[in-house]
Amino acid sequence: MTGFIAACRNAIGARYVLTDAVDIAPYLLDKRGRFTGSACAVVRPGSTEEVAATVRLCNDFNVPIVPQGGNTGLVLGSVPDDSGKAIVLSLQRLNAIRNIDAVNNTMTVDAGCILQHVQQAAGNVQRLFPLSLAAEGSCTIGGNLSSNAGGTAVLRYGNSRELCLGLEVVTPQGDIWNGLRALRKDNTGYDLRDLYIGAEGTLGIITAAVLKLFPQPKAQRTALVALRTVDDALRLLMLAQQQCGAALTGFELMSAFCMTLVQRHFPQTRAPFPAAYAHYALIELSDSESDEHAGMLLDNVIGAAMSQDIAPDAVVATSLAQSTALWELRERIPLAQAAEGRNVKHDVALPISRIGDFIATTDALLQQAIPGLRMVTFGHVGDGNLHYNVAQPENEPDSFLLPHQAAINRIVHDSVHHFGGSISAEHGLGALKRDEILRYKSAVEMNLMRTIKQALDPRNLMNPGKVV
Ligand code: FAD
Repeated sequence: MTGFIAACRNAIGARYVLTDAVDIAPYLLDKRGRFTGSACAVVRPGSTEEVAATVRLCNDFNVPIVPQGGNTGLVLGSVPDDSGKAIVLSLQRLNAIRNIDAVNNTMTVDAGCILQHVQQAAGNVQRLFPLSLAAEGSCTIGGNLSSNAGGTAVLRYGNSRELCLGLEVVTPQGDIWNGLRALRKDNTGYDLRDLYIGAEGTLGIITAAVLKLFPQPKAQRTALVALRTVDDALRLLMLAQQQCGAALTGFELMSAFCMTLVQRHFPQTRAPFPAAYAHYALIELSDSESDEHAGMLLDNVIGAAMSQDIAPDAVVATSLAQSTALWELRERIPLAQAAEGRNVKHDVALPISRIGDFIATTDALLQQAIPGLRMVTFGHVGDGNLHYNVAQPENEPDSFLLPHQAAINRIVHDSVHHFGGSISAEHGLGALKRDEILRYKSAVEMNLMRTIKQALDPRNLMNPGKVV
């Protein structure tokens, strides 16, 4: 191993090859603190060529590679196992905005660029890069693309996959594929770009990407709508889509229990309505005309929802501060549920039409199996993505959930499968769900995935133990 470390230091500079326990510790720790891996080194190349040189050395010395961006992933994909054989290859030093083409509505960025910096660079030329998620201050474009991240604007703009036109990739053999094409039409063979997006670092290392930009909206308006049932939320979604079209950029659902938790753990939170309701929908419109036009669209949707007895009450933000306060209700849910105690978390996707049945059926199955469980149900319902989290019964200790975790996962995932859904909507499989997915994907699909992996990475050096 000393020969490998010396060769890496020679290739990219001694200060960028970390081996001291204190220096490498942050790269080994899972974001949620569930697991600490082990690595022979953390390597921090500063260019695509240095990434390629590092990968070639890993081939020479048979060293597995765990690519890492911001290490904000939630499925143990960006941390190594505990064998100590792998390196963590951090992309953080590849952080240049290479080019912005405002006419073509594209930008080319290094994979280690922080998402928030990419959003700001687009904003500087009056363009929008719409990917947005709570970890945007530390996650990277390479990590976003490798996990095909979703976030709050998927309803209008799609996942990371839909926001990417081209890639530059270092292959598992250390070759550089320059696929940085800024084209919206390119039918010239297999779509390698789409293969690498969502591959969670198992097929190669993304070193740069061409991203799509959009016109900046002139105005944004937010409303919180009180609802009695999940089916009413879906009727409201259809109404908003019909009346607002592409202006509808966010539609988030949260249950009454989510609201209770936010008010309990953030006592400064003001109750949005005089009465409590079973569910709430947060609607966001982004309008290309004007603030007045956005306000009119939103008023019309809410007026129609009330007259059709879909919504008993609603508040429309009339200032940025009010809009921020409404979004805070949604964004504080993960923090509030953590303050309440342990949770068994599920990031699932369902056909939108089946969300109501899924929630009712799964709630009942869980209550039957373990009476008193409390479901923290919220998510990007406009694109069918639910965070269906399960908290321990009131007054039970944190330790209550652990022995039940496997049973809870089984009930929830089987139910997701029954309703035609996916057990991982936007976080990926990583090491956490690698075995679980075998229960839900057919042997044919798993074999196709393994064939691709074997063809591109026959020595299994790229992020081994993840996904397949
Ligand atoms: P990492 O965590 O470093 O890596 C993620 C995976 O990609 C790993 O398998 C890693 O090996 C691989 N990888 C990283 N960089 C590269 C590269 N350059 N080439 C090849 N493989 C690479 N996700 C969502 O989709 N939607 C959300 O709304 C959302 N909200 C979140 C909120 C919070 C508070 C947190 C902590 C996480 C959230 N996530 C969300 C999950 C996570 O932030 C995203 O998946 C993010 O896209 C990961 O980016 P990263 O740079 O941190 O990647």
